Amino acid sequence: MVDGRLVHMPSNLHDTLTDAVEGTVARDVPIAPLTTFRIGGSADLLVQPASRQDVVAVLRVCSECGVPLYILGAGSNLIVPDEGLRGVVLRLPDGIDDISLHGDTIVCGAGVLDCRLAEFALGHQVTGFEWIFDIPGSVGGAVYMNAGNNDGEISHSLVLAKWVSPDGELHEAGAEELKLGYRTSRFHNEPGIIVEAVFAISARADGSSIRGRMDSIKELRGSKFPEESLCAGSIFKRPLGDYAGRLIEEAGCGGMSVGGALVSHKHKGFIVNRGDATASDVLTLIEQVRRRVLEHSGVELETEVEVFSPIPTTRRT
Ligand SMILES: Cc1cc2nc3c(=O)[nH]c(=O)nc-3n(C[C@H](O)[C@H](O)[C@H](O)COP(=O)(O)OP(=O)(O)OC[C@H]3O[C@@H](n4cnc5c(N)ncnc54)[C@H](O)[C@@H]3O)c2cc1C
Repeated sequence: MVDGRLVHMPSNLHDTLTDAVEGTVARDVPIAPLTTFRIGGSADLLVQPASRQDVVAVLRVCSECGVPLYILGAGSNLIVPDEGLRGVVLRLPDGIDDISLHGDTIVCGAGVLDCRLAEFALGHQVTGFEWIFDIPGSVGGAVYMNAGNNDGEISHSLVLAKWVSPDGELHEAGAEELKLGYRTSRFHNEPGIIVEAVFAISARADGSSIRGRMDSIKELRGSKFPEESLCAGSIFKRPLGDYAGRLIEEAGCGGMSVGGALVSHKHKGFIVNRGDATASDVLTLIEQVRRRVLEHSGVELETEVEVFSPIPTTRRT
């Protein structure tokens, strides 16, 4: 069952996908190792696309067969359900990872990792991307989330994005049409697979000053973040005029745990996997924290991290 509907997996889906794409198709693939939380079960099929055409082909096949399709970036903002994922997972960092300079823009495949975008900018003495160096996601995931921190945000430099809609059509729109807001974009309500992002180059600087800034942002973040590396960053969005971590600490939730999931002692906004956490542990702990914070301060925390779910596909006739 996915979203309350019974999923029928055609027995020849593996072969159909293999024929349709240039990339690779694998069966029964554990998804936890492809995420930063390292939690959750296996996917029926994992496709590693080799090109943007592969993305369109996978969407078309899944739409035609009515099979759920999950879009995976670097897996740094996801909880994968323990029971696994019925359907197809399409992992963009495996193939859509071209990056180049075009005039005063940087053109990025959606699977490019954020740290590589920052290194690429550094290599071309472009400043303005230092903030993204330490975010463990992909450019597609960053656009989807309008990722950001104290030092920058996707919306500050994104010029346009290209995406494939559920009917398999390729679209392109300027940043102003992408409804970028605090950790949100139009793709939260209008599904699509982002395949490319174009960023403006607004200033240049010498390499050593860019490297220095990248290093100091990383050092500062490292001093605040939990030592345990298995997590998905901030679990909750920042409530208006406050910080989730502060409210969680005030409600006495620091160190709370369920099974292998723990509210970090160091950064109360993070839940860490002590090694054997399940998705169910994390979700139960999230609900307990939300309840305690609501009782204590009256603030209803909203999650930033997502339970991995499929994009709606259009069944073609
Ligand atoms: C240690 C740590 C620190 C973090 N710090 C920050 C921070 O400072 N600021 C911040 O904003 N976030 C932060 N995060 C969260 C996370 O890195 C970001 O949300 C990131 O942008 C998610 O990108 P991803 O590629 O990992 O997406 P995934 O986790 O793979 O996916 C997240 C969502 O995006 C969708 N998605 C991914 N790629 C595409 C695509 N190409 N097209 C359409 N949908 C897509 C997925 O389907 C899913 O719904 C942190 C996480 C960790 C673990």
